[in-house]
Amino acid sequence: MSQTDRSKPLPTLSFEFFPPRENDGVAKLLDGSVAKLAAFDPDYCSVTYGAGGSTRQGTQDLVEALLAAQINSVPHLSIGGSTDAALLELVEHYRNIGVTKILCLRGDQPSGDASRPVYAKDLVERLQQHYPKHFELAVAAYPEVHPDASCAAKDMIHFSAKVSAGASSAITQYFYNPEAYGFFLDRCAKAGLSIPVTAGIMPITNVEALQRFSAKAGADIPRWLAKSMATYMSDEKGLIDYGVEVVTKLCERLLEMGAPGLHFYTLNRWGASSRICRNLGFLER
Ligand code: FAD
Repeated sequence: MSQTDRSKPLPTLSFEFFPPRENDGVAKLLDGSVAKLAAFDPDYCSVTYGAGGSTRQGTQDLVEALLAAQINSVPHLSIGGSTDAALLELVEHYRNIGVTKILCLRGDQPSGDASRPVYAKDLVERLQQHYPKHFELAVAAYPEVHPDASCAAKDMIHFSAKVSAGASSAITQYFYNPEAYGFFLDRCAKAGLSIPVTAGIMPITNVEALQRFSAKAGADIPRWLAKSMATYMSDEKGLIDYGVEVVTKLCERLLEMGAPGLHFYTLNRWGASSRICRNLGFLER
């Protein structure tokens, strides 16, 4: 889609933020990156939930601040580290302050935990049981297959179980190979799944950080991209310009392939995400 192609409806747009650690971090984030990206009138901004519930209060604070600023806010939530009562207390609070959509995750499996393994499906089931049809429940999807899964077919069975439990939309892990997304949609269709699968988009702004995240998340950096990024090892501006070009083309391809929305992993920064959105024809207020 280009600036001039205004005939097609725009896909949904969302931006992901993490809760800042500093005391005045929320106010700074709202005045800075959130304000810049909210200008694109996104469908919502989501707020991550630290592994094992480590940012429970921070997530809640940022969700509240976004709602107070009239920005639709979607909390991420994982079971990890919380008792059932504590989890439901948080969800009850979200319901009372007007949250309507929650991204349900397993989170990272605590290492050395001998108890029964938990999965995101368990959280979806629990929320459907306590709040039947109240929240729109979204889940994570992995076009390149979740790193813990032994094969794509088993991963699809587990993804499908989340949908059967009541998830009505999904957001993908980021990827740079659009064909992975296409094959994932094919696998969904073969499994009889038709929920919208929004593409997760990671702008490229820092090679080392991207390599670190990707190793942890099991996201592939294709050789052509790794070698191209290496050209800009000591040229930050060059890397960002190149990254904006590559990720804009990726988004254009994903939209051609039928992606219903784009979800930007902003890492609390606005520069690259806003340039990509502008390139794609999203208008600022
Ligand atoms: P699940 O859907 O439970 O799947 C995890 C693994 O278990 C997969 O390999 C799956 O195939 C397998 N599995 C599922 N069910 C079964 C079963 N019954 N038997 C055997 N295997 C099974 N992490 C955070 O900590 N905080 C966040 O805020 C956060 N936000 C994210 C946002 C997005 C859009 C995405 C894509 C990921 C996010 N993550 C976050 C990362 C996520 O928590 C990890 O990828 C985690 O390892 C898996 O979470 P899940 O919800 O996909 O798990």
